[in-house]
Amino acid sequence: MSQRKAIGIDLGTTFSAVAHIDQYGKPQIVPNSESERITPSVILFDGGNVSVGTVAKNSSVAEPERIVDFVKREMGKPRELFHREFEGKVYSAEELSALILKKLKADAEKYLKEPVTDAVITVPAYFNDAERTATITAGQLAGLNVLQIINEPTAAAVAYGLDKLDEDQTVFVFDLGGGTFDVTIMRIEGHKIEMLATNGDHRLGGKDWDDVIVNLVAEEFDREHGENPLLDLQSYQDLQSRALAAKIQLSSRPRTAIIHSYNGKSVKVELTREDFERRTRHLVEKCKTICEIVMQEAKLEWSELGKILMVGGMTRMPMVREMITQLSPMPVGDDVNPDEAVAIGAAVQAILVMLQEEQTSGERVLPEDTRQQFSSREGALMQVTNITSHTLGVVLWDEGQLQEYVFPMIGKMSAIPASAKNFFGTASANMPRAVVRIVEGESTLPAECTPLGLCDVKLPPFLPKGSPVELVYEYNANQVLEVAVHAAGNQTKVSIERNTGLAPAEIAAAAAGLAELNVS
Ligand code: AMP
Repeated sequence: MSQRKAIGIDLGTTFSAVAHIDQYGKPQIVPNSESERITPSVILFDGGNVSVGTVAKNSSVAEPERIVDFVKREMGKPRELFHREFEGKVYSAEELSALILKKLKADAEKYLKEPVTDAVITVPAYFNDAERTATITAGQLAGLNVLQIINEPTAAAVAYGLDKLDEDQTVFVFDLGGGTFDVTIMRIEGHKIEMLATNGDHRLGGKDWDDVIVNLVAEEFDREHGENPLLDLQSYQDLQSRALAAKIQLSSRPRTAIIHSYNGKSVKVELTREDFERRTRHLVEKCKTICEIVMQEAKLEWSELGKILMVGGMTRMPMVREMITQLSPMPVGDDVNPDEAVAIGAAVQAILVMLQEEQTSGERVLPEDTRQQFSSREGALMQVTNITSHTLGVVLWDEGQLQEYVFPMIGKMSAIPASAKNFFGTASANMPRAVVRIVEGESTLPAECTPLGLCDVKLPPFLPKGSPVELVYEYNANQVLEVAVHAAGNQTKVSIERNTGLAPAEIAAAAAGLAELNVS
């Protein structure tokens, strides 16, 4: 087996970052081919050429119809629910994400001057099975061996804890990015990093703050000129980037002005930080509520925290910092770089996974110096334990109530890898097959849970009614579910017919399709 090279990838909603472990065992950010330390997660289609990053982002105003952004929000959706079409070809969310990953991989190879084979990719802690599976597929489509999918806050805690493993403490990771919000409480103790609780909002992020400015300017435009500047895609994209710039300015200045022109008319809106904070107070309140819920779930008081880690570009905003300061007596530090910590933690985790693989297989795939650097901390090697962010259940029939209900197999906040078994009786005699419906969510009502898929299992013949069928759920380190069914001595590991994402057979075809594109 030849040597492998792993990178850590923070595949963000608005920006992505890549890190690796250098020859001295130190994590380093890998700049892209434009010499930037973060790459906008924006794709520009131009015939057979695809540009990812700043070039694409800069075209978002001039050519909005050729642009794809915020793909992360669509991950896990089946093709029918989300796709984009360019030059007669239809792309799913996985394929679009794969294009971003292809660019990151190629740029890393150029910078590191060696092929990149493996990666740990990060996802928000509350990403569900479908979203995680889609992320793994995207990695595979980009030609990467996906070593593991890890949670962004876990990665941030790994980056922070790397040289603080001797100080036992509870860390609160507050991660507010461009499109997602994630809060996680981690415990660093005895060289172990353990996740205690997690919560978040899939659809809360910097873009919501930007939208407040966009709408304010659009209303003013409409008032002055009687026209809605958001109906034109180009004008909308233009206003969006102006709003984002204004928001960032208001992090360091007390006031700013936004000028927007459309159809030969223009408007100028003055905005103070105070006014902006008043208009976006509801968004910060949402963050605050989620912080309080997660503290309750972890059964902790704010005074028991040792550190608050601020991750994601939005945590540079004074109103966000003030909110945290009001909640916690702990000073909000600048211990990690909000844009880089997640990728760095992922790169460290990649080496830890590969070291474990080496120990299991006896095969050496890491460069000698990297192994030595990490092995010299032998015994102190970091161990990371994640917990489930959703309950995984099975839909059953309640004979008494004559209705379906969800039986929880693996509860929310179980340590991962997790497994659970249960026996169920067959509903009738000589049942030819059992169809297991897998759902994710905290409710007992099937309609309130997210369907993950089906397992269709052939049963042995002549089973009497009520024969025990053992159902086994295994939630692996990637937080992806595997299911096994045991009936009358027959053990079957069943593949889940997921109702989301690409089927295994479609992956090869999709990879071939993407290979025809020239990604830069
Ligand atoms: P991320 O997904 O972590 O890269 O977060 C990017 C988000 O942070 C975007 O919405 C940016 O507009 C926002 N952001 C970056 N820097 C600042 C800043 N100085 N002030 C306010 N927001 C910022």
